[in-house]
Amino acid sequence: MRQIIVIGAGQAGASCVAKLRNGGCTDLITLIGAEPVIPYQRPPLSKAYLMGDMDLERLYLRPESFYRDHDISLRMGTNVTSIHSDAQTISLGEETLSYDDLVLTTGSVPRRLPAQIGGDLEGVYVVRDLADVDAMAPQFQAGQRVLIVGGGYIGLEAASVAAKLGLKVTLVEMADRILQRVAARQTSDYFRALHRSHGVEILEGVGLNRLVGEDEVRGAILSDGSELDVDFVITGVGIGPATALAETAGLKIDNGIKVDAMGRTSCSNIWAAGDCTSFPYQTGRIRLESVPNAIDQAETVAENIMGAEKTYVAKPWFWSDQYDVKLQIAGLNTGYTEVVSRIGEGQTSSFWYYRDGLLVAVDAMNDPRAYMIGKRLIEAGKSADPAVVSDPTADLKPLLKK
Ligand code: FAD
Repeated sequence: MRQIIVIGAGQAGASCVAKLRNGGCTDLITLIGAEPVIPYQRPPLSKAYLMGDMDLERLYLRPESFYRDHDISLRMGTNVTSIHSDAQTISLGEETLSYDDLVLTTGSVPRRLPAQIGGDLEGVYVVRDLADVDAMAPQFQAGQRVLIVGGGYIGLEAASVAAKLGLKVTLVEMADRILQRVAARQTSDYFRALHRSHGVEILEGVGLNRLVGEDEVRGAILSDGSELDVDFVITGVGIGPATALAETAGLKIDNGIKVDAMGRTSCSNIWAAGDCTSFPYQTGRIRLESVPNAIDQAETVAENIMGAEKTYVAKPWFWSDQYDVKLQIAGLNTGYTEVVSRIGEGQTSSFWYYRDGLLVAVDAMNDPRAYMIGKRLIEAGKSADPAVVSDPTADLKPLLKK
């Protein structure tokens, strides 16, 4: 009997095996994951789960019985150490398994602060896995002083939870503004004001020189020379694609495991999906770090293993929750040349990104309608009259008909 092995039991791995079975695949299917838990959703780790508003059961993508009932073998707590593509085998330490088709869904690796600047002190955390969040959760007590390094979405979400729980929060961002890598100045301004209104101290254009402490972190020295007493530190300084395993197989790497539009790597019976891949998009290649991409790309791979020859066409979208604001992002703002603001009442706002007159992305805060219409316009390749967009009293729906 043919054997399909999926390595990496996160969002993409779980979606791939489910799609294989639900699509009628009768091969042996094994899902292997390094973490000692069945596949779960990561987004709540920096939101409801960190806040203590969501229990572990609700974090799981599917109950354990799903895998049993669908005859999917789970090997959790198991690290795959190498791939031998000529022999079509993988090594799990001493053990060897053979495959006919192999799928890599190994996700991302968080960047960590170097040990030379105190990155290995106790009380310095990243937010990637359930274990990371379970380890830091006891620190989330009112009055504790937390330093957050990095003003991207993960850092800002952690800041939001900490502030809501009454911690004293300082966030440092080395770039000129928070969210600089991913959003326009207008979105940065919106979230800076939101966090400051909740008492978070945001320092921009300020880096971390080093952390100090004996074994445990006790303070930080910042690039402007200031010193800070802290009880713990969270770093959200970005992630990189987890390609180390793919490299053992000699697969081509290009800002992630290089796959074609079908999700096939440079070796014909090895596929990949999710955060760990870069794939063709419009005229270039991209890598996306998002749940919708992990699900859709992994499902396409499953269908292609079953012979569909389907092309993956990414429709990028993303969300973030901070305080009582839901941010929804449609499209990709790469190379934008203009941003049009639509300022509604209270916290409702949206920012529309144009590239040479074409609408390419929308950041919508507490405005699901702007998000939904923006997304449909972008996916249809239509633009949106800036005069209509910038008038918060103007109905957006007629834009879809043009
Ligand atoms: P992962 O879910 O990371 O799964 C990869 C798995 O592979 C891991 O469990 C890893 O241990 C395992 N693995 C790696 N190497 C090996 C090996 N050699 N052997 C065995 N197992 C291995 N996205 C959104 O769209 N919206 C959000 O609001 C959002 N919030 C997020 C908040 C947090 C805190 C984090 C961490 C991520 C968030 N994301 C969000 C991103 C989203 O969770 C990821 O894009 C998604 O999980 C990617 O899925 P994946 O399956 O590619 O990788």
